[in-house]
Amino acid sequence: MTNVSDTLYPHLLKPLRVGNITLQNRVLMGSMHTGMEEEVGGFENMAAYYSTRARGGAGLIITGGIAPSRVGRAMLLSAKLSNKKEVTKHRVITDAVHAEGGLICMQILHTGRYGYHPFVVSASAIKSPITPFKPRALSSRSVWRSIEDYVNCASLAQQAGYDGVEIMGSEGYFIHQFIATHTNERTDEWGGLFENRIRIALEIVRQTRAAVGPDFILIFRLSMLDLLEKGSTWEEVVILAKALEEAGVSIINTGIGWHEARIPTIAAMVPRGCFTWVTAKLRGEVSVPLITTNRINTPEVAESVLARGDADMVSMARPFLADPNFVNKVIEGRVDEINTCIGCNQACLDHVFNRKRSSCLVNPQACHELDLIYEKKTSLKRIAVVGAGPAGLSCATVAAECGHQVTLFEASKEIGGQFNMAKQIPGKEEFHETLRYFSRRLEVLNVNVVLNQKVDLAIVKAGHFDEVVVATGVLPREPGIAGQDHPKVLSYLDVLRDKKEVGERVAVVGAGGIGFDICEYLSHEGDESSVDVGAFLTKWGIDPKNVVRGGVIGIKPDTPTPTREITLLQRKTTRLGAGLGKTTGWIHRASLKTKKINMVPGAQYNKIDDEGLHYLVDGNAHVLSVDTIVLCTGQVPLRDLHTELEKNGISSHLIGGADVATELDAKRAINQGSRLAASL
Ligand code: FAD
Ligand code: NAP
Ligand code: SF4
Repeated sequence: MTNVSDTLYPHLLKPLRVGNITLQNRVLMGSMHTGMEEEVGGFENMAAYYSTRARGGAGLIITGGIAPSRVGRAMLLSAKLSNKKEVTKHRVITDAVHAEGGLICMQILHTGRYGYHPFVVSASAIKSPITPFKPRALSSRSVWRSIEDYVNCASLAQQAGYDGVEIMGSEGYFIHQFIATHTNERTDEWGGLFENRIRIALEIVRQTRAAVGPDFILIFRLSMLDLLEKGSTWEEVVILAKALEEAGVSIINTGIGWHEARIPTIAAMVPRGCFTWVTAKLRGEVSVPLITTNRINTPEVAESVLARGDADMVSMARPFLADPNFVNKVIEGRVDEINTCIGCNQACLDHVFNRKRSSCLVNPQACHELDLIYEKKTSLKRIAVVGAGPAGLSCATVAAECGHQVTLFEASKEIGGQFNMAKQIPGKEEFHETLRYFSRRLEVLNVNVVLNQKVDLAIVKAGHFDEVVVATGVLPREPGIAGQDHPKVLSYLDVLRDKKEVGERVAVVGAGGIGFDICEYLSHEGDESSVDVGAFLTKWGIDPKNVVRGGVIGIKPDTPTPTREITLLQRKTTRLGAGLGKTTGWIHRASLKTKKINMVPGAQYNKIDDEGLHYLVDGNAHVLSVDTIVLCTGQVPLRDLHTELEKNGISSHLIGGADVATELDAKRAINQGSRLAASL
């Protein structure tokens, strides 16, 4: 047992008493839907997933949301717990977690009008802007029945062996839809006055506590900052928190923002620990422990939040996808080995919203604990991995973890490949962490790293390797526009890697991920919103004291005036950025809009000359008189080495951009590298 006063993280590792239960530390693994809830065999997979996190030291785990009734489901086939028959399958999860010495609560989530099916219900019949179905307003009697559903669900969760439940009352879900006038226009005992609107929350807690007894953990996720004009005031938040305590909650967890609020709350461009000050405001108002959340992804941030007294416990959800052993690594003094969540949402939330199983860009084993296993091999090999981008790094480290003797070659002076460009983009500072993680992993696993070495046939031959992996990445695609060699023209490599000078008037050709990133980069001056909490709140129009209703009413978003005049163009006639991530694309678009970037779809490029960029839109000719044109027109595979090896009868494995450059992202590169390595 570690003596917490001996560690650098005494607050984080300090036990916390909740009712009659002692949590071993102050780290909560927050609720995340995984997509496995609905799969055949999904509960066995979830048992492996949650028990891995329990073994990794999480103080308390909360499952993804489980509906208390049919109408409360997120989708028609989403998981629910409303009858005895459904109890058994949950047992496999609770048994597995308890076998590892962990504690687990089940989240009860009624999505209300956020459900994706035609039977959705809510306080009033007001459709949400982010879902297609208009809800039916519940009758007063049906509201009482919904309360019974929650109580029944909590009792069944107790029978299934859970240590408690979290009642989801924030983020704009069912209970929240009663609390806020935004969605509650009722005139009966469930609407109108605030005391009526919070009645459902209090009845659920009171009746649940009566049903489950005093020792069962009862967490309420309370919205403390709605980020909507018709959200709650701070006074209302405090009244509700006190009433919840009186009704019997054991802990209050923090909710920030409705899903429909157009303000980012968890994506990478939100500064770390951005909202813990909101939870801090509630301290002293109630005596139950408070949990704070959102963009806490390192032990340092978590420790400082607790040391400052913002909360009694921190919730981290995605960081447990990225690294199930987060807490154990803190306990063992190996924080530099933590695989940090970079807030990209690419393999977690984007998957869930695309109805795919969740995983993690930096850790493809997440939610694949039973099908992607890194185990020591009996036949050990000498392996050469050529290229230290994300594909090569993941392949080299997993191969070494499996016991192979690995040499990783990199032509440039540093590992990372394109991540060395990505990390310079405002809002993508977290990419530094992935490079730190891989760098340390290479050391720990004794991978032989050879930098400044462009590999050719002779080097491969001389090495007598058993396996050769080619992860040489990509080259920027030349778009074939007349005049593309004009001195005004730069590629994104020239800008980000070689730091070539860019003028004040700029055309960015190609509006994929990199085109958007280049616009962020070139319009960045004075915009510190991705690292500075105050600048972030100002940029997105959030009251830094959370005094005004919803934290936003009457506050105008404010971005520093851009120093460059930038136009972003694409050939497609669709909205720019339509192909970006489902849960982050809107943020990138909104950010560029606030920076007054001119967006041009449907451009047909004619030529580039001293005048600038000549193009047509709908047959009308335009000239963009600019100083610099930056080409972000996609990429093609760089695989000369592979071809040369093949010609000489040496077989090699192709991964990452060298394999397929189209729509390549780091998620695919890391997944492919890891899976190949595990199979060698
Ligand atoms: P690369 O990263 O290109 O690495 C290839 C490596 O091989 C290079 O280091 C190169 O020097 C080396 N090499 C080449 N030839 C040789 C040789 N003969 N010998 C030795 N070494 C050699 N993806 C995301 O998923 N999310 C994002 O948010 C994101 N943002 C991005 C932002 C920018 C600005 C850029 C440029 C890319 C971004 N990407 C993002 C894309 C992501 O970085 C790539 O998909 C990923 O890097 C591809 O990995 P890779 O290993 O295949 O290739
Ligand atoms: P991309 O997403 O494929 O975009 C390439 C852009 O160039 C498109 O807008 C395309 O649009 C245009 N284009 C393609 N061929 C062209 C041609 N011949 N002439 C003119 N325009 C052309 O590629 P990328 O932006 O280079 O990004 C590379 C990969 O990195 C992507 O697959 C992406 O997933 C990943 N990435 C992800 C993020 C992220 O935030 N998730 C960020 C950066 C990069 P039109 O055809 O309409 O002109
Ligand atoms: Fe974090 Fe990205 Fe992994 Fe999601 S996919 S857990 S945001 S690193």
